[in-house]
Amino acid sequence: MSETANHKLTAQQQALLRELPSMDRLLRLPVTIDLLAEYGRSLTLEALRAVLDDQRTAVLEGATYLPMTAMLVQAAREWLETWFTPTLRPVINATGVIVHTNLGRAPLSETALAAITAVSRGYGTLEYDLDAGQRGSRAVHAEKLLTRLTQAEAAAVVNNNAAAVLLMLSALCQGREVIISRGQLVEIGGGFRVPDVMAQSGAKLVEVGTTNRTHLRDYAAAITENTAAILVAHHSNFKIVGFTTEPTLAELAELAHAHNLPLLYDQGSGALLDTAVYGLDPEPTVSEALAAGCDVVAFSGDKLLGGPQAGILCGRADCLAAIKRHPLARAVRADKLALAALAATLTHYLKEEAETAVPVWQMIARPLADIEETAHTWAAQLQEQGLTAQVIAGESTVGGGSLPGTTLPTRLVAIPAASPDDLAAALRRQDPPVIGRIQDGRYLLDPRTVLPDQAGDLIRLVIQTMNDERQTMLAER
Ligand SMILES: *Cc1c(COP(=O)(O)O)cnc(C)c1O
Repeated sequence: MSETANHKLTAQQQALLRELPSMDRLLRLPVTIDLLAEYGRSLTLEALRAVLDDQRTAVLEGATYLPMTAMLVQAAREWLETWFTPTLRPVINATGVIVHTNLGRAPLSETALAAITAVSRGYGTLEYDLDAGQRGSRAVHAEKLLTRLTQAEAAAVVNNNAAAVLLMLSALCQGREVIISRGQLVEIGGGFRVPDVMAQSGAKLVEVGTTNRTHLRDYAAAITENTAAILVAHHSNFKIVGFTTEPTLAELAELAHAHNLPLLYDQGSGALLDTAVYGLDPEPTVSEALAAGCDVVAFSGDKLLGGPQAGILCGRADCLAAIKRHPLARAVRADKLALAALAATLTHYLKEEAETAVPVWQMIARPLADIEETAHTWAAQLQEQGLTAQVIAGESTVGGGSLPGTTLPTRLVAIPAASPDDLAAALRRQDPPVIGRIQDGRYLLDPRTVLPDQAGDLIRLVIQTMNDERQTMLAER
């Protein structure tokens, strides 16, 4: 601070500024030495400087006393803790949306988690052939399982399904025409628009039919010598209802093959199990799509498949060979963590234990009576604390751009709150944060998507938060 500025200060302000501990003094305190050991020198110095600056500003703005030195160091500790709290962290998903894109989509099975740890703690056979003792291919790890499960001739795994679709079109359709129904020119969310991806791939879009009705003859009329493929994109996040028609995959395959063209299918969800068995809307499984004649099927690893983020391509050997050869394949390849988790997730399907081992399918298949029992247990735990909670009927959704409009009956714990938004915000500030939903002025918890080992935390945090809110309200009266 310059002398001139100092002249304008009152005597009290000057005294307070002199009293402010120096950085040297702070650094000699045992509590600060702890901070240095825990958080490293440069960030700790920055934290202390920030705290001292704040105090100087406070004095200049009229503060009449200084906090104790221990409080200053505590403020620096809080500053540092904020820096070291990860922004990507676990939450409790009580929304009832099973494949919640914003909350990270599919939770992984224990086996998949163990597989990730096993190959990432040290070295692994990512691209190493143990028999030959030389370089191998990362392609092998999930492909044998995928071809076995889907009956495809070949398979490839990339970073996500958007990349899978881009790669498929780039490798098979670049510079030529791709025929697609106007009813399928969709945006999946997060800015993934089928027409934009097609443009990126260098394929030319040929739109046929209308938004609600496209006939086989519309496709047939659009085939020219420049056509590279027919593309079908699954309506994964909306439903066209009413006066609608679309040819089946089998009809399109027959048409495509009669013209020596491949039928490409962006299946989206990666359902390997029959969704209708679980009371969900039917949608073609990957094997059904291949059996219907699709030449390449693209889908996500972390939607209904219930694995890690990945994009998977299954289909004809010659198409997959062209896809793997394309330069983009290297740019969008899957990493070892995803490959390990994907292979482990696929083994659950091979053992026919997906319904009990893959969390997404456990949640889908969870019996209503079981959910109801949990909801009553939770409500009783809240009531024991003098809090109001009821069990009501409601609906869970699959979400994540899977099965539009399909819901599963559930039981919810409904908590009336003076301000449900405030309660929701307070629960989001907990550790771990709790994410529920609000409906008709009530805060709702859906047991379906809460992992069994999170239930204890959930109830404890709800009780704590509601008690805090009650205290605040009493204090305000
Ligand atoms: C979800 C989805 C995508 C995008 O998949 P990501 O794995 O999120 O990249 C593309 N197409 C369809 C039909 C989808 O449902």
